[in-house]
Amino acid sequence: MGAVSKPFERTDQRPPRDLPQLRLVVPESPTGAVATPQPVPTHSSTMTDTQTANSLPQHAELATPLEPTAELLEELKEASRSLETATPEAIIQWASDRFAPHLTMATAFGPEGCVILSILSRVAPATYVFNLETGYQFQQTLDLRDQIAEKYGVKVDMLKPELSVPEYEAMHGGPLYNSNPNQCCFDRKITVLRRAVEGKHAWMSGIRRDQSSDRAKISTVAWDSKFNLVKVSPLANWVKQDVWKRITDEAIPYNRLHDQGYPSVGCWPCTHAVPDGDHDERAGRWSGTQKTECGLHSLEADGSGI
Ligand code: SF4
Repeated sequence: MGAVSKPFERTDQRPPRDLPQLRLVVPESPTGAVATPQPVPTHSSTMTDTQTANSLPQHAELATPLEPTAELLEELKEASRSLETATPEAIIQWASDRFAPHLTMATAFGPEGCVILSILSRVAPATYVFNLETGYQFQQTLDLRDQIAEKYGVKVDMLKPELSVPEYEAMHGGPLYNSNPNQCCFDRKITVLRRAVEGKHAWMSGIRRDQSSDRAKISTVAWDSKFNLVKVSPLANWVKQDVWKRITDEAIPYNRLHDQGYPSVGCWPCTHAVPDGDHDERAGRWSGTQKTECGLHSLEADGSGI
């Protein structure tokens, strides 16, 4: 076990490449099986087909927006109740049966997202999946897109904000991730997500209740009043060990930064490795600030589970 190195400075303009191995965070299955840590990939992604949010999703079929009628809300409540102990496969199957082709999924290529993508490839392979490509993601994260596509045939669209990172930083006299991370997340994530889900009836994400107090109240199926569509969380009732057991059992590709002290991986300026002993899954995200979420999964005032 190597010594814990100094966390990356948030003012570092370059994503770290050759990271010292800090500790093996995961995976550990209930049987004690531990995956072998692998070196961080350093090759360039072959991804070339990123898109800006205003021009997409080109192949998505637009539908009349859903309205949160009393009837629909009651249906979602009942569905959430009946799916509470269902497998992720069953939940995704239900979502696909109910909402396809107007079902979509957002993934940051976290462990949960990789598990869902592996299931989608079997259960609902036509589902439109996108990533919010802020321009600040680690190369290791971008590389996962190709690994997932190669293994499962699932292509993830990389949706970019209108302004490139140089354009955005020039407009603001420098990066905002230190001085105003909420604005940065809004401009480079929330705005893009809003456009991506236009014309969709439901979206899926990999959040789990045991990840944070913010996420502890999520429902498996609920109305997302922030983005005005249904939100499905197929892993809501899973715990961390369930995720990593599935990854280990099925050799699902995952972000190798998790082997290097990163419990959670987001944009590189706002993600740090954490010392041994810090088992908070959201540790290392926006360290030193009160911020814990980018806004995609913040709870609404009515506790609707988003
Ligand atoms: Fe900006 Fe950081 Fe939010 Fe990424 S996580 S959008 S770099 S503030």
